[in-house]
This record gives sequence, structure tokens and C-alpha cells, in this order.
Amino acid sequence: MITVMKFGGTSVGSPEALKRAAKIILRGDGSKIVIASAMSGITNFLVNGAENLPGSRDHMIEEFEKKHIDVANQVLGKGQMEDFMKEFNARMEKFRNLLNDENALKDPYYKDNITSQGERFSTLILSYALRAAGAKSVALTSEDCGIIADGRPLSGSADLQKTEAMMELKVKPYIADGVIPVITGFYGIKSDGLPLTFGRGGSDYSAAVVANAMNVDLLEIWTDVDGFMSADPRIIPDAVKIDEMNFGEAAELAYFGAKVLHPRTIEPVRMKHIPLKVKNSFKPEEPGTIIHHLRKQMDGLLMSVAIKTDLSIISISSAEIAYHPEMVARIIEKIAENEVVIYSISTSLSTVAFLVHSNDVKSILSKLNTLDPGDIERIEVKNEVALVCAVGDNLLSKCGVSGDIFTAVKEAKANVEMISEGASDVSLNFVVPMSRATDVVKTLHRKYVRGGSNEGL
Ligand code: ASP
Ligand code: MG
Repeated sequence: MITVMKFGGTSVGSPEALKRAAKIILRGDGSKIVIASAMSGITNFLVNGAENLPGSRDHMIEEFEKKHIDVANQVLGKGQMEDFMKEFNARMEKFRNLLNDENALKDPYYKDNITSQGERFSTLILSYALRAAGAKSVALTSEDCGIIADGRPLSGSADLQKTEAMMELKVKPYIADGVIPVITGFYGIKSDGLPLTFGRGGSDYSAAVVANAMNVDLLEIWTDVDGFMSADPRIIPDAVKIDEMNFGEAAELAYFGAKVLHPRTIEPVRMKHIPLKVKNSFKPEEPGTIIHHLRKQMDGLLMSVAIKTDLSIISISSAEIAYHPEMVARIIEKIAENEVVIYSISTSLSTVAFLVHSNDVKSILSKLNTLDPGDIERIEVKNEVALVCAVGDNLLSKCGVSGDIFTAVKEAKANVEMISEGASDVSLNFVVPMSRATDVVKTLHRKYVRGGSNEGL
């Protein structure tokens, strides 16, 4: 049995957290592959530093070095410190060279290089912590493993096939020797060998990529919450933890609101039917949430209700737009030029409406202004809306579900501004004014989530 275990920023964010992570890694049977994020706060620190170069250079190096040596001193014994410092200094030397290399800093991907530095040091300390506890371990960077990526700066994707071929060669032998590799999360390498990050929070995705590449039996995401919840506990104090979900449900929830898992984590493991567990590293005995292909039937109508706030609807009107798919294509192309996320699209005979993040509205409008004026009659923007994502069992195939849900929305005195039903059979998504969103969630949770009263069912 091989398990990939991923530890997030807070789970490696202090000497105590690192010792706890080492203990968790060593407690179960079977082979382990570990992925870690940077210590909490470090990536933000690097992002800020990269924005303010060259003035920030000396401060960045000094603080970064001091912080990691300080933590290592508290985690490792004298015996480990000497070997640790050799590897540490070699990695630090590369970081320093990068910040002093004018040409490297002109590369369009230079921020990927700088912001991925945190993972290189958290993993080194964790690997030595495992050695301190008597295990065999090696700290490997994404370069060492051959985690291959491509894409634009700060938003890479892994090439799963190439990564599988590389890791087979470079990492398998360690597993066969009983060594625990501790691998950098958050980034892969491009064909030129330089780093490309997977977007903020991307270490979860890295872990899923490694699980896929190594064809493991289980992926464990160790974080600082108990698992997926039936709603955000800040809105619903009696929200319950979800024990079991299928891949589709977890993907929708991760995408639309719950900040438990990076939404891209699901696909690489779903493809290979690798089960995924979300666990709390501060309470390792708790079972967490298990996500796999099939799960038991649930009692309530809904499993979870999530909301995404600070969204806007941009409605574009033009005569008979529905008969001009090429025009819709041009509009979408314009919006996509900025790489903004479109959360929902709906069309009628003369209108096409897009749901986007409010921060993106200004740039989208300026892009739309470059379209042929004959194409568009009117553009309207509705701000301060929220998307409600209701996730449940086979929602589409159950008769009357939408009726029940929208009756509850009416009870919460909210007007539904936009609906997207049918895009996924595990969720019903709709848009309400932001001022009503929490009441909608409260009403739906009370009526339809297992653990609620299930009135009306
Ligand atoms: N350290 C990176 C970040 O903070 C990646 C991660 O935490 O998953 O975004
Ligand atoms: Mg992080």
C-alpha cells in the first residue's frame, strides 16, 4: 500500500506543527510519499518581496534564511543540524543567485521561481525531522522528481503522462528502498527546466498529480479543518462534517465555495479511482472526509450548501443573439482574453448573461468595448450578487427538487437572479442578491441538509 500524504501551510507552519506532521507520517503502515506546502505566511512574504524587487532583495534573503534556520534548530537535534545545513546552504545559494541575476528577473516566469522557494525549505526541514525520528527520508524538489508542467506564468498545469514517466524513474527506486520522499508542492517544471507554479493553494493539486503519477492507493490531504462541512460554520454554527462524498460532489463544492481543497485536486485522482481523505493534522484521530467513486445513499435531500460572494452579472443584449452563435463566441473570446473565471452563463433570445467576480467587471467591460458596436445593443451590470451552490444526491433525477429548493429561497425572501441547473447532476446553482445569501443558506440548511430537521420531506 502506498499513500501520498500532503501537509498544508499551517500543518508545517511551526516547529510543533512539523513535529506533529512527522509523527503522523510515521504512524501508519505501508509506503509513504509526502508533499508539503511552504510554512504558513512564507508564500505571501515571497509574493510581496517579488513585487518590490530589487529594493526588497536583502531583506527577503535575510528574513527567509533566519526564519527557516530558527525553525530547523527547534525541530532537529545537533546530530541532524550539520547535514541539514549542507543541503540548506546549497538551496539557499540557488535562491540568492536567482535574486542577484538580472536576466533571470526579466524572465516572464521569474515570479514562479521566487514564490516556489518556500516549498524547497519546508520540505527539507520535514525530511530531516523524519530522519530525526529514525526513518529513512530524502527531500526532493519538483526538479528532482520530474513533475512536468506547462501553461502561463503563475497558472500552470501538470502534464500527467510525462510526470508519470519521470517519477517512475526518479522516485520509484526510493520507495522500493523504504525511503520516504518529501516532495515540494505548488510547482512543476517547464520544458526549459524552470519552475511554473500551479496557482495559489496549488500544493493540493501537486499532491493529486503525484498520486496519479505514482499510481498510489490513497491520497491524504492533511489540513487545519475537520473535512468538508455541510455549510460554512461561520454562517451555520451547527453545520455538520460530511463523512463521505463522491468525486463530483467534492469537485463542485471545492470550486464553488468550500475552501477545504483546491478545486483542481479532484481530477488527477478521479481519473485513476484513487480515494482521497481530507484530515485535520491537529486532530489526527478524527476520521475526516473520504471522497471516492461511490458512496452510500444519504438521508437528506442536500449534502451541503456553499456560497460564493462578491460576484456580478454582466448581461449583454443584442437582437436575436440566440441565432448568432458566432457573436456569442466573439463575446466569450473577449472575456476569456483576460483569463477571468466565468461562474455561469445563461442565454435567452436577445440576452446572454455572465456571472463573474466583481473585481473582473471593469476589465471585462473595457474588453467588450472593443467589439464591433453593431454587435451589442446594451450592457447591464448587476453587482453584489452571490452564487448559492446546493449539492446533493442525483438532484436532477429527483422529481420536484428544484420546486422544494426554490420554495425555501422564497421563504428567505430572496429573488433568484440567475439559475444554472443541469450543468452538473450533483448541484443546483443559482444567484441571489448578496444581502439575502446567508438567509438562503440558513433556510436550505435547516430544511434539507441531513442533520437539519428535514422538515417538508
Ligand atoms: N504555498 C503555496 C500557497 O500558499 C501553495 C499552497 O499552499 O498550496 O499558495
Ligand atoms: Mg499555503
